[in-house]
Amino acid sequence: MNASEFRKRGKEMVDYVADYIEGVEKRQVYPDVEPGYLRPLIPATAPQDPETFEDIMTDVEKIIMPGVTHWHSPNFFAYFPTASSYPAMLADMLCGAIGCIGFSWAASPACTELETVMMDWLGKMLELPEAFLAGSNGEGGGVIQGSASEATLVALLAARTKVTRQLQAASPELTQAAIMEKLVAYSSDQAHSSVERAGLIGGVKLKAIPSDGKFAMRASALQEALERDKAAGLIPFFVVATLGTTSCCSFDNVLEVGPICNRENMWLHIDAAYAGSAFICPEFRHLLNGVEFADSFNFNPHKWLLVNFDCSAMWVKNRNNLTGAFKLDPVYLKHSHQDSGLITDYRHWQLPLGRRFRSLKMWFVFRIYGVKGLQAYIRKHVQLSREFESLVRQDPRFEICAEVTLGLVCFRLKGSNKLNEALLEKINNAKKIHLVPCHLRDKFVLRFAICSRSVESAHIQHAWKHIRELATQLLQSGKE
Ligand SMILES: *Cc1c(COP(=O)(O)O)cnc(C)c1O
Repeated sequence: MNASEFRKRGKEMVDYVADYIEGVEKRQVYPDVEPGYLRPLIPATAPQDPETFEDIMTDVEKIIMPGVTHWHSPNFFAYFPTASSYPAMLADMLCGAIGCIGFSWAASPACTELETVMMDWLGKMLELPEAFLAGSNGEGGGVIQGSASEATLVALLAARTKVTRQLQAASPELTQAAIMEKLVAYSSDQAHSSVERAGLIGGVKLKAIPSDGKFAMRASALQEALERDKAAGLIPFFVVATLGTTSCCSFDNVLEVGPICNRENMWLHIDAAYAGSAFICPEFRHLLNGVEFADSFNFNPHKWLLVNFDCSAMWVKNRNNLTGAFKLDPVYLKHSHQDSGLITDYRHWQLPLGRRFRSLKMWFVFRIYGVKGLQAYIRKHVQLSREFESLVRQDPRFEICAEVTLGLVCFRLKGSNKLNEALLEKINNAKKIHLVPCHLRDKFVLRFAICSRSVESAHIQHAWKHIRELATQLLQSGKE
């Protein structure tokens, strides 16, 4: 494909994308295909001879689209939102064109420097404490990770290195193996599975702290575990607090947990993967109170801030804790500016070497929407979830299962788990809308997450009417 062909196809692709997004509501939100559907539809090997662009696009509609779950349909209420906006897609195209691998400052100075500035912009939107910003000439700063899972893992590994070095400095005879055996990390029993995985990958014990009646981690439960483990000779070193849990969007009490972490020399990492975007609104900023106690903080603009995947924003108070933990400088990656102390080599802040020019997406989105536009977007989603909540509350057959703070409503039919499993199956088999469940303690619960950029009140009303009809059918069939 040469440049003139690219110009033509590029314009066609933009039209295809705009048509797709505009028309996505008309597509069935969840596909009809069975596992393995695709292989028989395409050749077993790559073509020997070139094919045409038309043929590929025909196959996109014929083979790919029938197997797509349409996350951007206004009838999609599953998981959490994944962000999508036109300026982000355009910036991604530019990112592909520049195609640099920004592992060091020298590898593409703009790639590094725009990221640092965008992370400061975003940090200021959230009113993060100065200590997390790079521009203050302090020791903090932000980095874009690929996912919240990576951010948690990076924080855990950095904390592990930090505590190991401290202990070895005090007692040089201690081996790393002897220390690792005793390290213990904590998160609430509501934390995302990626936290448990970080513990597995990092080779340290991770203990679940029982959450309270509002699914929040509290000081007393953490303190209890801590005392027990210290008495058993273990070394507590790392705590993950979640702001906006995946199951029900509950909030750990960071104002309580934070001071304990500081006092006990435990690294506090805050995972606000979903909820973090809402903190750009002054009325939700209080949910972030206590972040001043954290060593690292992370959320996903690729969930709820209109920046397409992948873009996970992570800040640390002391960048040396990251760069000091992971630094290696082979000669082929060295460059003449690196020891000046003025520049950032982001490869030391993350697991992979390679990294895309992801900050372009933030820059485009922040400028096209403005902070006010982004705030309005968050508020609209919260408004829609409140609307859904009040519909549920008006039907005495249903109950709300957790406090609705942002864009997620957890609800169920009053009755058995089996009944609710049957309701969810009916909903997802009808394929008019798409939901996923969660467990809250021993209850099977349906999650209704406001997801699409184009979702409106009418979609919420329709979805609720549909759910009620299916519930009525289900309750009647049970009686017969
Ligand atoms: C979605 C979610 C994650 C995982 O995010 P990735 O970026 O896909 O790793 C982690 N924690 C919480 C609380 C989440 O909601």
